[in-house]
Amino acid sequence: MPLEVLSLTFNAVQENTFLVYDTDSLETIIFDPGCYSRAEEQRLLDVIEERGLKPTQLINTHCHFDHVFGNAFVKETFGLQLGIHPLEQPILEMAPLIVSTYGMPPMTASPPPDYFINEGDDIKLGQYQFQVLLCPGHSPGSLCFYQPEAGFVIGGDVLFRNSIGRTDLPGGDHPTLMGAIITKLFPLPDETVVYPGHGSSTTIGYEKKNNPFVREFLDA
Ligand SMILES: [Zn+2]
Ligand SMILES: [Zn+2]
Repeated sequence: MPLEVLSLTFNAVQENTFLVYDTDSLETIIFDPGCYSRAEEQRLLDVIEERGLKPTQLINTHCHFDHVFGNAFVKETFGLQLGIHPLEQPILEMAPLIVSTYGMPPMTASPPPDYFINEGDDIKLGQYQFQVLLCPGHSPGSLCFYQPEAGFVIGGDVLFRNSIGRTDLPGGDHPTLMGAIITKLFPLPDETVVYPGHGSSTTIGYEKKNNPFVREFLDA
């Protein structure tokens, strides 16, 4: 495998942080660093050090607090630029307030984004490119990152194994989410592996056949 995907599960809501790296150059994209405690930050550092990874990019699929807890730490530690979809900036700014309303210990606020990522942009990693898909509904600017040669998508909280992202948070909308899943993700090859923001990985083909939310929506 020329590209490798490592996942680490962090924080109270079991968020998946993904490290995607080119096995030749060891250049690494860190997607959604959810590390919250000192111990979790250290676990992220240990994995990076053990494998000799060279983080070069910091990207949020969307900016709910569980996906951005570690933004400040990762940006400072590795000197990276943060990329998000423009519609996620207000959500990023709100994250510390939301965390306090949940009664969790205060989070270190994320730095503002350094650049914006839009649908159709190419995200490069070594000689590989990710296609950027805008999949709103869980969050207004949710992005999925599809890598055709390696056959996987970093999906955020859009499509889970046998489930879908919740749509009861500000900016969420159920029909919009279903539309994104059906028009953006389901056209990908069935064998495409989906690495979601929570829970275990799945494939597009498995979800087309088995996902109860999709079946209910299509039957309605
Ligand atoms: Zn989310
Ligand atoms: Zn999440």
